[in-house]
This record gives sequence, C-alpha cells and structure tokens, in this order.
Amino acid sequence: MTKLRLSHSSVSSYQLCGKKYYYHYIEKWRDKETSAALLFGTALDKTIESILKDIKQKSYDDTLQTYFNIFTNQWRNGYINKSYESLWENERLVYAASDFDSDLLQSKDLLFLFSRLDSEYKELGIYTDPNQVLDIFYSLRKKKETSGWDNMTIPEKRFYNLVNWSCLYKKGLLMIEAFRRDIKPKIKEVIDIQREISLENEEGDSVIGFIDAILKLDDDSIVIIDFKTSARDYAYDSVIKSPQLSLYLHAVENEYNTRKAGFIVFKKGINKQRSKICSKCSFNGTGSKAKTCTNEIGGKRCGGEWDEKINPIAETQVIVSDIPKYFENIVIENFMEVNAAIKAEVFPRNFSACESPFPCPYIKLCHKGIVDGLEKEEK
Ligand SMILES: [Zn+2]
Repeated sequence: MTKLRLSHSSVSSYQLCGKKYYYHYIEKWRDKETSAALLFGTALDKTIESILKDIKQKSYDDTLQTYFNIFTNQWRNGYINKSYESLWENERLVYAASDFDSDLLQSKDLLFLFSRLDSEYKELGIYTDPNQVLDIFYSLRKKKETSGWDNMTIPEKRFYNLVNWSCLYKKGLLMIEAFRRDIKPKIKEVIDIQREISLENEEGDSVIGFIDAILKLDDDSIVIIDFKTSARDYAYDSVIKSPQLSLYLHAVENEYNTRKAGFIVFKKGINKQRSKICSKCSFNGTGSKAKTCTNEIGGKRCGGEWDEKINPIAETQVIVSDIPKYFENIVIENFMEVNAAIKAEVFPRNFSACESPFPCPYIKLCHKGIVDGLEKEEK
C-alpha cells in the first residue's frame, strides 16, 4: 500500500467534501481559472520571507526598496496550475469584488492603464483621456454582473483583470510598509523561516507542512507564526481554534519549548485616512458631511471649498495565544482519522459544500459528469 502524504490544506479539503479531495488530489483535476487572492498571498509571503531572512542575516533594507522590487517580480509572474505565467493581464485569474479600490489608483497609474488601453485594447473602443479608464472598467464590471464572466471577450477579461491587478499591486506595497511600521518593531529575533515539518505514523504515512516563521517577539515569547492576507478581520480566538497552528505547534513544541502560536494578518481593505481641509480658512473638517466649509468666521459661515485628501495605509492584526493541549490532541487524532478514511478510499460527497463557502470548481463534474473548465495537472 502506498504511503499517504497529507497537509493541513489537503485535510481541510477532505473535510469540506470527500469527493472534492478525490477530484483534486487523486484524479488531479484543476480549475483552469485561479483565484487572484491565492497568487497575491503567495507573492506577499515570498516577500515577507525575504524580509525575515534579511533581518536574520542583519542585512534588512529599511528603505524597503529591495522588498518592493521582490514583490513586484513575484506579483508580475506566477504559477497557475504549475505553468509559469505573466499575471497582470491574465484572463485566467478570478478577482473578488473587494480587490478593486479606485482610491488607490493615482494619476500615474491611470496613465499607465490608459497606455495599455491605447496600445493593446483597441477592440474596447477609442479613448483619448486617462480619466476614461475607470469608466471603461465600470462598464466591464457591469457586463460581468449582467451577462456573466464567461460571456466576456478575452480583451475585456484581460483589461478588467489588469485594473484589478493594479489595485492589488498598490495594496501589496502598502502591506510591505505596514510590515515595517507595525510588525518589525515587535520582532526581537527571527529564529527560523519556512521551517518544514513532518509527522509520521507507524505505517509511514505523514503530515507535512511549512511554518512561515518562528519568531521571538518583543516580550521574549517564542511564537509559531503563519502570515495571512484577508479581506475580513480575524477573530480574537482564531489562534486557539486553528487546526493549522495546532499541527505546527505539535510538530516543534519540544524543540522550541513554547506553546505559543499566532497569526499575523494583513488586511486587504485599505484604511484611507481621509482628511478634509478648507482651502480658504484651513479649517479641519475631517469627518464632516457638509459640502462646503462649516467654520464660522465673525458670525458668518465660511463656505470655502474642501481640499479632500487620502493617506492610505494597510492595517495589520497580530493574534498570539497559547494552543490548548486538549485542542492540539483532537487535531492530531483528526489527522489520523482522515488518514484512515482516505486509505480506505472513502470519499463521500458533502452536498452542503457545493456553493458555500465558495462555489466548488468540480460541481459540473460531480453533479453532471461533465468535464468543463477543468484540466489535468501536468506531472
Ligand atoms: Zn473655511
């Protein structure tokens, strides 16, 4: 009998739906489209890995230029089902509505997008003004909502994706700045990076994984860390409920003599830090809903025009907790039970998971026996 190699993500997949695990890990079917969130997370992870390596080797670049460059390269090209591709105008990426943020596109970004529109996307119409970039994006978004992504042309998909790519690019740069501002001061020592773990049972089956980082924080605690990018806030108790962190802690707790694990989360929703200053009297009207300046000068309302500005920053969360021993034990027990079920070739469907939390890529294959939008992973 062949030995199984499980991971936190393959076990999660099995638990969401046995058949989903079967299609992905046994039959090796892959969705032709990939979520941009996954590739963006990978690009940021690689960048943070470089930052941590430099901190460890005392060659950290506080200007961040080194890391902006690494992130740019990582986000420009990436792997879609093991094929290395250019990502910025790739029609196989699927963006979430929340990836787009028009506030982050400055005039030089619009100029860049306009130059692509003018040189590569003549099919989409003739435009003469960089400010029309957003209009065409909104009309493409409308088309996507009303007619569906599958009914858009390749140039339409590519330009729509390029605008989203640009927004996530700006978010990535803000996240690197957030690392310097929020996270770097909390790190006393980088103990290990991308630490491989492997747990084996008597039959030689294993659970493998990579711990993003093991850090000594400013309070001298040693913490098993996983980095996340997320559109939503992580809950205060997300660490003590995390099977992933319990697994990682279980694998290395004796070596590092710690029970602490944590998530470091970069939030995709950008804080704009909007400000409103009167152009006439310099009154600070930040937060005011009034159309013009509300300051009273000599009993008269100023009425000057607002000078509205934004100072966008990415926000972070650091959630650290002791992993409860009881939970750690049931996580390990669960790995053994899933391992036994897979070896017994038990792959039950979970019909509750076809649409949520995400639409399953295998729904047509599973419900109708039709291979559509899927490809086999190349060996
Ligand atoms: Zn005023």
